[in-house]
Amino acid sequence: MLYLVPTPIGNLEDITLRAIRTLKEVDLIIAEDTRTSKKLLVRYDIDTPIQSFHAHNEHSKVDLYIEQLKAGRSIALISDAGTPGISDPGYLIVRESISNEIDISCLPGPTAFVPALVMSGLPCDRFHFEGFLPVKKGRQSRLEYLVSLPNTFILYESPFRVIKTTQKLIDLGCGLRRGAVCRELTKIHEEVIRGELNKILPVLQSKTKIKGEIVMIIGPPKKS
Ligand code: SAM
Repeated sequence: MLYLVPTPIGNLEDITLRAIRTLKEVDLIIAEDTRTSKKLLVRYDIDTPIQSFHAHNEHSKVDLYIEQLKAGRSIALISDAGTPGISDPGYLIVRESISNEIDISCLPGPTAFVPALVMSGLPCDRFHFEGFLPVKKGRQSRLEYLVSLPNTFILYESPFRVIKTTQKLIDLGCGLRRGAVCRELTKIHEEVIRGELNKILPVLQSKTKIKGEIVMIIGPPKKS
């Protein structure tokens, strides 16, 4: 059985009882960064063997883990934070497990965009999750596509690019759209900046340094 186990996005208390039990019971944990995950494992007295499985080795390692799963071992995949497969490795091993008829269980749990979306106060009945934009090539055309959608959309963004991205969205005619910049969710310095994008921009610009992890929520176009 392959288990996909969500882990906290900041506050280490945000983990389910079932996630802790699963991580204790499986034969092997595969993790994006074993050093990051060890902090969580130590906190919950989990001494299951752990190996690395990340974007740079998943193609070379997936067959090895599929063979182990077929041989009856149980494996839990975790990422550095949140739900595996959401802007993190996961898709490949899930796809290969399905084609090899291996049972999969994905535990429900933390993922950064859900609390950001719900806290934003923007329509969340329908939304588009984009995750990370391409850094260079294709970034502009992807943004043009996103602003053409009728729904709220969600970006995972770096603190180094958040001002530029907000400016770009304003240049694309979204200055009057409402948005939310959600930073360091569940952590000590959690912050949500809400408002029209052309009001959010000066707030971001007024900060000496923007640190931490960010989810941007952009509300739907205003009805004319
Ligand atoms: N798998 C994760 C999930 O389920 O949300 C996402 C992993 S992705 C590599 C990391 C990005 O998620 C960050 O760059 C940021 O955009 C967002 N993120 C993760 N933790 C966050 C937090 N505590 N506050 C705000 N954004 C966060």
